[in-house]
Amino acid sequence: SLTGKTAIVTGSNSGIGLGIAWELARAGADVVLNSFTDSEEDHALAAEMAAETGVSVRYIQADMSKGEDCRALIEKAGRCDILVNNAGIQHVAPIDDFPVDKWNAIIAINLNSAFHTMAAALPMMRAAGWGRIVNIASAHGLTASPYKAAYVAAKHGIVGMTKTVALETAQEPITCNAICPGYVLTPLVEAQIPDTMKEYNMSREDVIKNVMLERQPSKEFATVEQLGGTAVFLCSDAAAQITGTTISVDGGWTAL
Ligand code: NAD
Repeated sequence: SLTGKTAIVTGSNSGIGLGIAWELARAGADVVLNSFTDSEEDHALAAEMAAETGVSVRYIQADMSKGEDCRALIEKAGRCDILVNNAGIQHVAPIDDFPVDKWNAIIAINLNSAFHTMAAALPMMRAAGWGRIVNIASAHGLTASPYKAAYVAAKHGIVGMTKTVALETAQEPITCNAICPGYVLTPLVEAQIPDTMKEYNMSREDVIKNVMLERQPSKEFATVEQLGGTAVFLCSDAAAQITGTTISVDGGWTAL
């Protein structure tokens, strides 16, 4: 059980981050939820999770595109036994047409944020004598697709940084791993459907089956609960010697 541990999950008011936060809370960890907004719904989500699981849940606003905010999130939480770097965005465009502001935002949120949060969290893990870092990469951390230059670069980067931090903490009771999901039907993926429908002149069903799940041999989306379960496993004693590696939850994508 993760009772007594505090888990910080970046980008966790929706999608995979929220699913992971729920599973960590169900496993007994106190949870810090985060996004760049600071709405009533954000705080209501924390209250609902606390009421249903009995752990302490706080919502802390911080914009993961800003390095100071990333570090402030960890400092404000005051304790960080489990760090899940999940915040991420996507933009799809050919490289010669790729908007520079989108490139910069994707690299900042999907890659740089994890540098800042890990740098701030590691001293706390060392002081507590235990730590787990779980970086949410992607099948695109191991393979590429056209039109996703920034995303693929950021996700390959996070896989590399995961290995580096694992080596720097190898002789300590701290592990650092990356989870590489295939397609999961979250708001991030939902948002890509209309553009892809236009690009290929296809129906929604055809886009899902023949474009998105084309490379996912299971022909099924992975679920946020499955990703939450994988994160909980990486925090368990059984996973104490698993460090510096990736776990794919991709229905066979990277086996192809
Ligand atoms: P999502 O859009 O549902 O969730 C993204 C989360 O990040 C949200 O909570 C959002 O508020 C937060 N966020 C965005 N910008 C932020 C910022 N500047 N500061 C703080 N928080 C911010 O997307 P998702 O599909 O749940 O994606 C979560 C992670 O999983 C991302 O890193 C994504 O790359 C990765 N991933 C998703 C899939 C998939 O198929 N959905 C596959 C592989 C990897």
